[in-house]
Amino acid sequence: MPENKVNTLITDSPSEAAKVLLRGGIVVFPTETVYGIGASAFDHNSCRRIYEVKNRPSDNPLILHVENLAALNVCASLNPAGKLVFQKFSPGAITGIFPKNDPNLFTADLKTVAVRIPSNPTARSFLEFCNVPVAAPSANLSGRPSLTKMVYILEEFSGKVDCILIGEEPQIGIESTVIDFTSNPPILLRPGFVDFQDLKEILPEIQVLKSEDKTRNTSTEAPISPGLKYRHYAPICKVILTENLENIPSDAAQIGFRFYEDVAYQIRIDSNEAYMKSLYSFFVECDKRKIEEAFCEIPKEGRGKEALLNRITKAASK
Ligand code: AMP
Ligand code: MG
Repeated sequence: MPENKVNTLITDSPSEAAKVLLRGGIVVFPTETVYGIGASAFDHNSCRRIYEVKNRPSDNPLILHVENLAALNVCASLNPAGKLVFQKFSPGAITGIFPKNDPNLFTADLKTVAVRIPSNPTARSFLEFCNVPVAAPSANLSGRPSLTKMVYILEEFSGKVDCILIGEEPQIGIESTVIDFTSNPPILLRPGFVDFQDLKEILPEIQVLKSEDKTRNTSTEAPISPGLKYRHYAPICKVILTENLENIPSDAAQIGFRFYEDVAYQIRIDSNEAYMKSLYSFFVECDKRKIEEAFCEIPKEGRGKEALLNRITKAASK
């Protein structure tokens, strides 16, 4: 883990943050999903520094963030299915994996590239000033919950990165939907705010990744997401997914749809959208309070359920 000795510029100016990035710096910036930690995708040394700061396994590639479809086409070869999905859901919380167009892009030695066009206004302005693809995983220590609030970013990354860009906080709260368009039919690798139902409406052939295919897609030989191998999103405390929050211990924490008197810490939410927005803050706050058990109520039917269950069960797995 690198020592806290970097001089961190904290700014609300996207153009200042872009200057830092273009000089080879690494920059934490907000997106509509979670905070990202980015470097120019052409600067392989800076990209490698992201791995050091996050303590990220070196075979887990980064998503490239670009300002618009024209910039995306420079990085990646879109096929008709990819075009359809990006025209419908982009800018937004959707990431596509495609053959890589430019061999100079940093992709952790893969021939494919994961790309997305964020909708967060601060991210968009920053990417416009950068005018290069920005390779950015979520801004968190590898394996830990992604961060969705500036207070947590300042605690975690001051002194470790060259710049922190203050702007509009993430509105969604969980990471983007990831789709592998290099396999036929396309495969949903990671559910997000855009879910399987949304995708099926415009891409009826889309498949969900089967759990036995987690390291390699043997039928198509298509690349699958190396990140799926690793434990993710997990706080230090034990995460328990439960149908019933009624009898949880009084020194535990809970996130769910009802209010309970006797718990050490709780977040009450009224929808799956609010659940997505609060889940990672809940995990972070549980650890700050040294809570040992964090109970998460099963999300409601409908939008968000799939993505929430994905994150909570991964956080709960040992
Ligand atoms: P995050 O670190 O939260 O930004 O997640 C990025 C996800 O995208 C990880 O699961 C990566 O493994 C995945 N990913 C990035 N690039 C590729 C790629 N070229 N092929 C497959 N998965 C990728
Ligand atoms: Mg991540």
